[in-house]
Amino acid sequence: MSFEELDLDPVLLAAIQEQKFYKPTPVQEAAIPVLMDRTDLLAGAATGTGKTAAFVLPILQYLLEEPQPAKFPRILLLAPTRELAFQIHKVIKQLGTNCNFPSVIITGGFKMSQQIENLKKPCDILVATPGRLAKIMQEEGVNLSNIEVLIIDEADRMLDMGQGPTVHALLEAIPGDFQAGLFSATLSGSGVEKFANEILDEPEVVQIDAPNQQSEQVQQIAYLANDKEHKQALLTNLLNDASCLSAIVFCNKKERAIEVTEYLQSQNVSAQVLHGDFIQAVRLEKMQKFIRGKIKVLVATDVAARGLDMLNITHVINYDLPYRGDNYIHRIGRTGRGQQAGIAVSLVERHDLVNLERIEYHLKQKMPIGKMPGLEANFKLKDALKKATSKKKPKKNAGKKKATAKKKR
Ligand code: ADP
Ligand code: MG
Repeated sequence: MSFEELDLDPVLLAAIQEQKFYKPTPVQEAAIPVLMDRTDLLAGAATGTGKTAAFVLPILQYLLEEPQPAKFPRILLLAPTRELAFQIHKVIKQLGTNCNFPSVIITGGFKMSQQIENLKKPCDILVATPGRLAKIMQEEGVNLSNIEVLIIDEADRMLDMGQGPTVHALLEAIPGDFQAGLFSATLSGSGVEKFANEILDEPEVVQIDAPNQQSEQVQQIAYLANDKEHKQALLTNLLNDASCLSAIVFCNKKERAIEVTEYLQSQNVSAQVLHGDFIQAVRLEKMQKFIRGKIKVLVATDVAARGLDMLNITHVINYDLPYRGDNYIHRIGRTGRGQQAGIAVSLVERHDLVNLERIEYHLKQKMPIGKMPGLEANFKLKDALKKATSKKKPKKNAGKKKATAKKKR
């Protein structure tokens, strides 16, 4: 499914493109239509799966469809922590860059009097942590009587932090009917379901299975690579190793997958390419050959490898690192199934380090760096990372974000 198919306004589609979101994540695909349909929603999906845009896009769409002169907030977004509230606010600014709906953010750590002043100005979207908003409500500094849509993000964490009663108190201040969406990393435990029952009215439930938390049986390793030739040499070595019986090599783009396949074939490695342009019948045929062991290596893009859930894959190799952590987990989940051990290898050039860091952050663990005798990289991870961060710095402080960063401190 594409974002276009979700019937979002062109101004939102333009902003989505600017964010380089090429297609909706599973939770976005499932949640956006429900919220756009004005139905209550209970959504569970793991961290890092794109829940923020899953609720920000429908609320922006709603405001576009039902415009009103801005006055008191019509949308209330609650998040358990200051950091999360700021993150949500940032996504609202990014995805709402072409709409300019006035928004206010209210969290602890800032002067309440100033926040009450901010709330006197016209506001469509209010992002808040429950505690501070409740305090302001006691001072009669906020008017929640116009709220039409309520979103609660990270409900599980909110409940863990004991914010449940505060949220209930806030909701009592909303006199009319409102649509509500509740998002959580997990739907079990922490009393999320009970909380949802109290707040939501005949909700649709969207539960996206955590893409196979990393299997213990998958050994992960990364090799640093100088350039394309170096990557190719590492790849051939890995595939020619006696331990490698069958492998999927992942590339981010079709063109790359074709190039890598041609290279492997020139090295007499039994390899075939699988990408989204092949018709289903051809894809199935290739998969069957692979499953039966007639092809040793399948070079694939993520889309094409969907449905390739089978035993016996000994190696998953990321020729290109995926951009996202959940995608990485999905890829490596192709090996180490059943009783078998598997190996997940990532080839990392300097320009991949940003992705590597993002994946490590998602996994909450560092990736071990391997050494292949005779094929060592001419740089060290530590040095390359230092360079990468010093290069990133000026960008971080550029533009609008500066003010927020300062205020935060
Ligand atoms: P969650 O709230 O589920 O933990 P986030 O909303 O914070 O996840 O999103 C995680 C990351 O994924 C962010 O960096 C976000 O920019 C990115 N992201 C969200 N949606 C998409 C998409 N459709 N395509 C690519 N990246 C996306
Ligand atoms: Mg989130």
